[in-house]
Order: sequence, then C-alpha cells, then structure tokens
Amino acid sequence: MNPTIKVLHLEDNPSDAELIDYELRKGDIPFEKQLVESREDYEEMLNKFNPDIILSDHSLPSFNSFKALEILRDKKLTIPFILVTATVSEEFAVDIMKRGADDYILKDRLQRLPSAVMNSLEKHRLEKDKQAANERLAFHLENAPLGFIELDNLGIIKSWSKRAEEILGWDGKALIQSQENNFSQVYEEDRPLAKKVLEQLISGEVERNKVQCRHVTGNGKVIWCEWFNSVLKDENGKVKTIMSLIQDITEQKLMEKQKDNFLSVASHELKTPVTTIKAYGQLAEELLEKKGDNDTLDIMKRMGVQVNRLTGLIGSLLDFTKIRNGQLVYDEAPFDFNDLVQEMVVDMQKTSHTHEIKNNPGPGTTVFGDRDKLSQVLINLISNAIKYSPESDRIVISTRTSRMGIELSVRDFGIGIPAEDLQNVFKQFYRVSGEGQSTFPGMGIGLYICSEVVTRHGGNIWVESNIGKGSTFYAWIPSDHRSTIAMHGGNQ
Ligand code: ADP
Repeated sequence: MNPTIKVLHLEDNPSDAELIDYELRKGDIPFEKQLVESREDYEEMLNKFNPDIILSDHSLPSFNSFKALEILRDKKLTIPFILVTATVSEEFAVDIMKRGADDYILKDRLQRLPSAVMNSLEKHRLEKDKQAANERLAFHLENAPLGFIELDNLGIIKSWSKRAEEILGWDGKALIQSQENNFSQVYEEDRPLAKKVLEQLISGEVERNKVQCRHVTGNGKVIWCEWFNSVLKDENGKVKTIMSLIQDITEQKLMEKQKDNFLSVASHELKTPVTTIKAYGQLAEELLEKKGDNDTLDIMKRMGVQVNRLTGLIGSLLDFTKIRNGQLVYDEAPFDFNDLVQEMVVDMQKTSHTHEIKNNPGPGTTVFGDRDKLSQVLINLISNAIKYSPESDRIVISTRTSRMGIELSVRDFGIGIPAEDLQNVFKQFYRVSGEGQSTFPGMGIGLYICSEVVTRHGGNIWVESNIGKGSTFYAWIPSDHRSTIAMHGGNQ
C-alpha cells in the first residue's frame, strides 16, 4: 500500500475543501490533511506538520498563493505546490508556474487532481534523488586525492575543484573568469605537449588520454602532475566537455629519479672492477697458454665467458639508465650493415655451442648510424633467440633492402610469444609471464634498449611469433635517417 501523503491545504471555502478531499479519495490517494487559511497557520503547519504537498487556492481573505510560494522560497523548502483555483487566465498560469508552482487545477475540473498530485510528488522525488546524487558526486570530487577540472570544447576552464586548487596552488575562480587557456600554469617546456594532448581531445581524435607534465604553482614551485582526461560527447558525437582528473606525482617522480640515479651509479661502480677482472683474466689466459697448463686455461676460459656475460649485463643497465635520463650519446657514421651482422654472428657463435647461427645477408647497404649501438641490438636479439629456444639448435639471421633502408630479421624456433604480449615485449621491464617463462633469466630491458636504439635511427622494430614454433624479430633501419622519414609502423 502507498504511504499516507501529508497534504497541507490552503482554502477558505469548506465545501471546496470537501470536494477536493472527495477527489483525492476517488483517486485512491491515501492522505492526511491539514486545512489552513491564514498565513500564521500556514507557516506553523509547514514546521509542525511537515507536508509532502501543498494544495492552495489563490486568494484567501488575508493571504494568497503568491505569498505562500514566497514563504516556501524564503525557507528554502522544496515542497510540491499545486494551485487549485476557480479561474485562471493564461498570463496568471504562466506567472504562477514561474513563481515555483508545479501545476494548477481548475475547481471545475478536479478529476485531474489525483494524477497532478502523484506527478508532482514523483517529479520532486526524482529531483531530490538527482540532487542527492549530485551532492554525493560533489563530495567525492572535493574530497578525493585527485583534483577535478572541467574544460569546455574550446579548452577553456569551466570548473575547478578545491583539491585542484590545492594541488596547483592557483585560484580556480580567477582562471575561470579569465575565459582563456594560455597554459600559464604549465611549465614552459611542457606547454607544447600539454597543448597537443588538449587538441587531441578537442578535435575528438581521442576519447581519453593521460599526460605527465610539470606545472608552476601559484607560489612559483615546479611540480609534476599526471592528467587523466576524457571527453563527454553529445548525442551527435560532438565534444561537449573535457573532464580531467589530476594527481600530484612530484614525489613519485623524485623517487624514480633517485632509483635511476642509484642504478646509474651502481652500474658505473660495477663496470670498473669487472673491466679490470676481464683484463687480468685475458692476461692469465695468455700466461697459461704459454705454460701449456690446459686444464687451468679451460677453467679460465669458462670464467671469461661468465665475465663477458656480466659485462654485457652491466652494459645493458648503463644503457638503460642513460636512455631513461636522456643521456645516451649516439656517435654516428656510415658503415656497412651486412659487415656488422657478419661480425656479430661470428662473435655470438663463439658464445654458443648449442645453436648454429646462420647468416643470410641480402645485398649490402650502407647505413648511417651508431655502429656500436646497432651491434648491441643484434647481440640482444641473437642472445634472446638462443635463450628462448632451448630445444632447438639454429637461429637464422637475414637482411634485405627495403623502403630505402635495410630490414634485419632474427628468427628462432623456440617457445614463441603469446599474441597478447607481442606489443608489450618492447616495454621496459616487461617479461612474458606464464608456465615455463620464469625459468629464463633476464631483466626485461634488452628489447626496450633495442626499440630505443632502432627508433632513434628513424626505424621501427616488431615481432611475429607462433607459440611453440618460434619468433622472428624484425628491425627496419633507414639508410640515412637524416634524410628519410620513417614511412610505416611495424607489423607489415
Ligand atoms: P629479458 O631479459 O627478460 O630477456 P627482453 O627485454 O630481452 O628481456 O625481452 C622481454 C621479454 O620478451 C622476455 O622476458 C621474453 O618473455 C620475451 N622474449 C624476448 N625475445 C624472445 C624470443 N626470441 N622468444 C620468446 N620470447 C622472447
């Protein structure tokens, strides 16, 4: 059964009041009613009776419906209000609705009253729910650790939460009033990036993106923030609003920097003694060879292999930290790419007794680039090919000329890479997880370095693979990246 509706009725004519009661009963509306006709009684009942709805005649001996509505407004009460009156002109009807009435009913058409009552109650209930939901949302936005900023479809700031103000230290109201977005709070060097990200959203090119950039706070401090942006579109797919959540990541950035510094210092410190050990080892090997002590020489050689591995690992760590800090220096000159591949094949073959490394060179191409860094790419790809194909005994390296450059491929017949990991293997620290994978040692930075080096040469790198059948890594490098624009992304 419906709950009883509390009706406050402003009416001075008892027989009209009776009629109205009759209509409500006829409409099956369970109600409890207070009949009042003076302002004092009306105000008293608003407090005491706490009505769900007000029905009001327009003119009463000392009061009228306009005043009744005014009182509601002054008291900030949102109670459904229906005017029930004898006659209404069109102007009057418009006027009373403007003043906040929900509906009006003519006394000679009272049969509409029950549905008008129910509709008004429902409308208010929905409004209340909406208001409560908005309040909850506003509460979360104000109290979340993320700042909330809303921009219009031109990129002009429209609202700015308290938390955003705390993070950025700028007066949101002043920015909103300025009616322009000149990116004054973005650190100058990062403005082009911030503008590009915003343009992508404004144009509708992307629906969401995120960006890390530096900001200058109101008191001149430089902080790092991460922005999570998304666009709200209208029914025609046109961008309506851009919503951004921002987070202060200065501390996180500082810690990352400390970690990078630590890695960089640690790998530097490790490199010096290992280089010395390697030199002494080679000296010892020569002496043992002269002495003809083949047993000890064999042990020294085995040690040498491990020292070389260690040197490689430290070298990768150093390169990795340099890439992260933007300090990897490229020393470029023209060289024959096939010669480099052949050299690396010979070197790597010395380290592997399990695999035959076959080289299928295509027509020679001179490449302008950093020979050492590109040799590192070959080492990483070939050593991965060996490492991830323990059950097989061959690796095939090929080169061919392609798109004004050279395409290198390194093919193995090993464990393969699941399709969903193919894009990710070039990301730093990414290692394919799954059965059997954990048995392969590694740091997850080899392919990241390859990708960085190849990209820096204006090329691209990709992989094709079949689980259980093997993988082929491809790298396309333009002959001269100073004059060539990379034409395609990978995977062709
Ligand atoms: P790692 O030191 O782990 O080998 P890489 O960056 O060289 O790091 O490779 C990233 C991940 O890609 C590896 O952990 C491995 O899961 C996968 N991977 C790389 N090369 C191959 C390959 N030839 N065959 C199968 N999986 C490979």
